[in-house]
Amino acid sequence: MYLTLSLILLMLLAFSPAQTRSIKAVEIHGPKDPGFNSAGDDELSVSAIIERANRDIGQKPEDPTITFGDILVDDGLQNADPCTSRNPSCLWPKNKNGIVYVPYIISNQFCPKEKKLITDILKTFRNSTCIQFVPRDREEDYIHIQNLKGCYSSVGRRGGEQTLSLSRQGCLYKRAVQHEFIHALGFHHEQSRSDRDQHIRIVYENIDPDKKHNFNKVDTNNLKTPYDYGSVMHYGRDAFSNNGQPTMIPIPDQNVAVGRAQEMNANDILRIKRLYCA
Ligand SMILES: [Zn+2]
Repeated sequence: MYLTLSLILLMLLAFSPAQTRSIKAVEIHGPKDPGFNSAGDDELSVSAIIERANRDIGQKPEDPTITFGDILVDDGLQNADPCTSRNPSCLWPKNKNGIVYVPYIISNQFCPKEKKLITDILKTFRNSTCIQFVPRDREEDYIHIQNLKGCYSSVGRRGGEQTLSLSRQGCLYKRAVQHEFIHALGFHHEQSRSDRDQHIRIVYENIDPDKKHNFNKVDTNNLKTPYDYGSVMHYGRDAFSNNGQPTMIPIPDQNVAVGRAQEMNANDILRIKRLYCA
């Protein structure tokens, strides 16, 4: 009996630290990244991570134009979810075998461990949907994953090379990486949904005037999926707050958790499947 118990204890001791490490993927970063992955990062909402990483974007003329917090503004389709039902569409094309291959190249600014972290996160799409992110061969349209200032992406397939930035200094979290790639698949933020006013109240007095555009609504195709506060595409309760007070209050229950996803959830997966895999 004692032997069995000690054996179980030993196994627990041996396995639990390893499990913790695998969840905290960003621990691969060493002291070269001061301040990165500081204590308490697990508590940060995906939008807090993105806001922190993107706080300096826009201060220099050469900076990209970003809207909605992390969506790259380029010509044409910036409010993009409706682009998925336009012709030509911004969807990534489906192969005859039913798989949607999304080609990417990844910058050598990332070290091998970081590349592995990112590509491992990309495999989570393959595991639950028909989307497969694959290294680019000669495809014309592809995602260029770069270590630029901040975390951001375009919405949907833009044609040609399109930038998806994952700063090494603050974006290499599962939830932030998934979030940016879900943008690249054509999805907008949950709180931008066409029906969001039935589910959240935007508190404009707590938002910087120059950040209010981040709360614009988009005429989204909601794919008959419910509004979901737990989507990895939902920003946190105090996103873009200028005073620490909430900028979004859930309706009708003010106390439900908002924007706390650690990874894409069942509704995020369902939407991707309905858009691409049906
Ligand atoms: Zn976003």
